[in-house]
Amino acid sequence: MLSILNFFELFYPNICVVCDEHLLPSEELLCTFCRHDLPLIDECNYKENQISKIFYGRVPIEKAMSFMYYRKKGKAKTMIHQLKYKGNQEVGVFLGNWFGHQLNESKQFKDVDFIIPVPLHPSKLKIRGYNQLTTFGKTLEKILKTSYLENVLIRTNRSKTQTFKHRFERFSNSETKFLVKNSELLVNKHVLLIDDVITTGATLEACANELLKSDGIKISIVTMAFTE
Ligand SMILES: [Zn+2]
Repeated sequence: MLSILNFFELFYPNICVVCDEHLLPSEELLCTFCRHDLPLIDECNYKENQISKIFYGRVPIEKAMSFMYYRKKGKAKTMIHQLKYKGNQEVGVFLGNWFGHQLNESKQFKDVDFIIPVPLHPSKLKIRGYNQLTTFGKTLEKILKTSYLENVLIRTNRSKTQTFKHRFERFSNSETKFLVKNSELLVNKHVLLIDDVITTGATLEACANELLKSDGIKISIVTMAFTE
């Protein structure tokens, strides 16, 4: 006969998000093996780190930090895929808790006024139904005791004619356009821009350039993972 616990496990199997092994009652989301095997970036106390260097000479960024290496077939990639494409928003809460406490300890982000996510394209948001950064951002909001603003930085929808008109811009990274609503809210504020993975930094750079239109704004960047 099924116990109540087993009965619930039929519907909500308590398995590791990365390797599918059953979790022990003391484990949450990840098994102990996968947790210890995550490729963590250990440089949270350095301002001049490899993530900051991505933006040198491109856009002024106060501090930039990433927590895991994003590798082909790697554990960080599996976790972020679960969050992004499988609807497992618990991954965002888990990483927000873990990394939020690290940010708190580093004390480098204690003057952040707002956390702003890289927005999804509206059509993508409609299909996916959620921005994969929401649970991560809201968890950071609680831990850093600051405010998470989801609808201030937006991605604009480009019409077909505009796409045609701007087709040559596709090669200059300006296919996507970002806009800031209520930009006066950000004057003289320190904004923490968040994203899941940083690769070339082009999207974050485009977001930062739009945010920089507010006078006296300072921008820092935090991403869950970094593509080496
Ligand atoms: Zn595992």
